Formats: sequence, structure tokens, C-alpha cells
Amino acid sequence: MPRPISATISLSSLSHNLEVVREQLLPSGAPDGAVRPAIWAVIKANAYGHGVDNAVRAFSQADGLAMLDLDEAVRCRELGWSKPILLLEGFFEERDLPVLREYGLRTTLHCVEQLDMLEAGQPAGLDAFVKLDSGMSRLGFAPSGYRQAYERAVRARQAGLLGDIGKMSHFARADDDADTTREQIALFNACTEGLPGAASVCNSAGTLTQGLWATVQGQDGHWVRPGICLYGASPFASRPAAQIGLRPAMTLASRLISVRDIPAGASVGYGHIFRADRPMRIGVVACGYADGYPRHAITDTPITVAGVRTRVLGRVSMDMLVADLDPVPHAQVGSPVVLWGEGGPSVDEVAQAAGTIGYELLCAVAPRVPKIVIQEDSSS
Ligand SMILES: *Cc1c(COP(=O)(O)O)cnc(C)c1O
Repeated sequence: MPRPISATISLSSLSHNLEVVREQLLPSGAPDGAVRPAIWAVIKANAYGHGVDNAVRAFSQADGLAMLDLDEAVRCRELGWSKPILLLEGFFEERDLPVLREYGLRTTLHCVEQLDMLEAGQPAGLDAFVKLDSGMSRLGFAPSGYRQAYERAVRARQAGLLGDIGKMSHFARADDDADTTREQIALFNACTEGLPGAASVCNSAGTLTQGLWATVQGQDGHWVRPGICLYGASPFASRPAAQIGLRPAMTLASRLISVRDIPAGASVGYGHIFRADRPMRIGVVACGYADGYPRHAITDTPITVAGVRTRVLGRVSMDMLVADLDPVPHAQVGSPVVLWGEGGPSVDEVAQAAGTIGYELLCAVAPRVPKIVIQEDSSS
């Protein structure tokens, strides 16, 4: 028998979350003629740990897919995805360009080195977004150099090297600071004033902030780029995913492999960081940090055993962790455990207890954890 741990991926929850985004962008009851922005479903990092193949199936209603790994992009084409694909970091070397052309991949242009490589290559008619660094100091042209880069892209189009040219930027604090976000949008609007092409700025937090996308200048259309919310986790520390109507797409579940009674004064796990101050019942769960469960999730991290919410005790080991069974007197060896997802705590709650974000936990589920793909949500 394999260890009793698995990650269940719900395709219907992924599709549901995409619908939540769509509804948020253009609520039913919006005026006639209102145009909804197009949606890039962001599926980088193996679809935030959910599997590219699953994402391609579940996001069939998205307008495009965005990622950064060329192999993942090619995989999407092999799976039959014929709508646009955007490479969020563009190409890395000149020899990537024929791959972009062959598979019809849209590129981000974020630095002069990419423009140099492009100009040295063969005409490819690639569609592109020229990226502005509007305040994150990561990828993109500085505001002072943006117009020049855009004009170089226009000349590349005239030479047959590029096709459509759009404008792009990325938010640093759309999840927690509206003022910074407004400043980034103002800078984007100033730098792109009068330049034709679609605009793409909003990540999940920007997309889920009512009306924000419409303040971005995009006379030739908008593309939003939601990622994390499509997987049922919240981009906001203070707004739970369930409150936004999102459903967890991944459920990490396991079972108890040992149940024991410990006396007052006994300590639990490595480092003895938890000590029982009274006799307790505890259960050992087949899940550890080698499965991707965060080692920093110490005592009091929420966990569900046999349908009852309880807590982790002590330190997480490589292959096991310990749960407090006092609230679950009926628990026994074999009882089901939900680490996060449907029927358990949200991945965001576990992440918060471990001092990180849901993104990291979803991406970090280890390859050794078997994935079970289901069409229907167990709750629907
Ligand atoms: C990851 C990423 C996104 C999606 O971000 P979320 O916070 O997951 O919605 C959008 N755009 C770019 C450029 C990204 O790297």
C-alpha cells in the first residue's frame, strides 16, 4: 500500500473560480455594450502545483493562458490549446525565438537585450507586450526608457519581426495598499499615453478589486492576469477566499497512522517544542515537510481530523506530523485528515500559521504526493 497521502485536484472548482473572476470583471446587470476585459489564466509553475494538463482542461473558457516556461507552453499546444499563450518573462535566448514562432507564443519584452536578440533574428511576426516597470524594480523598462523601447518594438513590427504590440505592467501591492496601486496605474497611464495596443496590468488582487481594471488606460482593450484566485486561494491577507466565492481546487489529505495517549509532562516531536500539561490523546498523520507541508507550521496550525477541526502539535517531521485529538475522541488509526482544502482549513490559514502565503504551499507539494483528478467538487 502506498502512504495514505494525496492531493485531489477538482477541475470543476478551477472552472468555477474562473467564472467568479469573469463575474467580478463584468457583473451581470452591467450596462449594455460594456466590454469585459479578456482573461489570461496564469498557469505558471505547473499551474501553481495543480498540473498544466488539468489547468488546460479546466480553463477552456479563458481567453488565453500565461506562463513562463517554454516547455509548459509547448505542452499546452500539444494538448490542443489554440487560443493565445503569453510568456510572462518572454524569451531567454535567441534560439528560443523559432520555438515562439512555431507554437505561436506571445512574448513579453522587458529589457533591451531582448530587443537586440529580436532584431538579430528572423522575421517572426510575434505578438508582444512591452513591459513597464511601474514600481516593482523587477522586470520591465524604466519609465524614462519606456517610449523608446515601445518605438523600437514598432520598428521591429515594420520589419516583420513583431505582430501586435501591447502594453504591460505588474502591481507590487494590489493586495494590501490601494495608494501604491493607484500610483502605479497613474504612472502606467502617463507612460503609455497615446500608444496604441491592449493593456495588461491586473493580477488576482487587481482583478478582484472592483472596478480597478477600468482605471487602467487601454483604449485597444484589456487583458487581466489572475493566477492564485483561480486555484481557490486569496491574494488578500484579510479577505478569505470563501468570502470571495472561491473554492479550493486542491485538497491535501492523508490519514492517521498511529493514535496514542500521552501523560501530562510528555513532549511531542523534534526539539520538544510542545509539552503536554495534562494527559492528551494525539494522532500521527502521514504527512511531513518532504510532502511539501511547511515545516514552519508549528503548534496550533489548523488541521481537520475525522471532520473535526483541531491543531498541529509540536514540529513537523519529514514524513509525519502530530495532531491534537482531544476535540476528536472518536478518531482512530485510518481516520481521514485534511491538511488543507475541501473539508479542512484553507491553504491560506495554514500558510499564515507558517509565516508564508498560500502560493508557496500550493507550488511546493512534492512530486511524491499522488494527484487525484476529479471532475466534480465533492461539495457540489
Ligand atoms: C504570477 C503573475 C501573475 C499572477 O499573479 P497572482 O497574484 O497569482 O494573481 C500575473 N502577472 C505576472 C507577470 C505574474 O508573474
